[in-house]
Amino acid sequence: MGRTPLIAGNWKMYKTEEQAEDYIQALLPRVSVSDGVDVAICVPFTDLRAMIDSARGSRVEVYAQNMHHEPEGAFTGEISAAMLAGWCDLTLVGHSERRHIFGERDDEVGRKFVASLAHGLSVILAVGETSDERDEGNTFDVVDRQLDAVFAELAGPPAVDAWVIAYEPVWAIGTGRTATPEQAQEVVAHIKQHVRSRFPDGSPRVLYGGSVTAANAASLFAQADIDGALVGGVSLRAEEFGVIVAAAEAAAGSRGAA
Ligand code: PEP
Repeated sequence: MGRTPLIAGNWKMYKTEEQAEDYIQALLPRVSVSDGVDVAICVPFTDLRAMIDSARGSRVEVYAQNMHHEPEGAFTGEISAAMLAGWCDLTLVGHSERRHIFGERDDEVGRKFVASLAHGLSVILAVGETSDERDEGNTFDVVDRQLDAVFAELAGPPAVDAWVIAYEPVWAIGTGRTATPEQAQEVVAHIKQHVRSRFPDGSPRVLYGGSVTAANAASLFAQADIDGALVGGVSLRAEEFGVIVAAAEAAAGSRGAA
């Protein structure tokens, strides 16, 4: 961990507004002393207002999970970056459930990424290979293709230092099968190298996501290039999510002391 770590939860399609309120009250005391760690939760649209109000003034930031790349239009059921910008500062784009369940193509993810930045939203861009793609030895090619699709949409010089990319192998999401720390480090380092080869002046924060738990977080955070985690299922439980935040804080502290 070289940069301030980011621990971001992804609630997926869980929690009513009332459940979200209970959760944030349980989480805030658990992360109030975490220094040197950025903490965020990506919540369903319907929980944004309650979570933003309850988290105001705390170290917890509230993100959306998705948005449409057009600013407005005949897209029933969609929400644009322009609309989100009035609510929150950040959004997740390119989550594998969006890519694989809802059929989002790489170029659409690229357009979402650029539209989010254009409306002043920061973005976590998720990339990662399927199990078959890994078995065929194509992991690097897949993440490069997903990144290049985003690069292709950029109009001007990017603020790469502000980017957050989450390496999320699809085979590790919600499966209980975590990438080994070495597997995660290898691909995270590759992502940084790929971005650097295109934009030598900046370096994004790169997170790992895929069945991160309180038990395996520390070994992932001990890796040189992993700048935090995107946490799905476990982020639904405030206590365990708080333990992951504490593990990031400890890893960042020991780096600082080294
Ligand atoms: C996710 O939803 O981004 C994720 C990584 O899920 P899980 O932690 O449950 O594998």
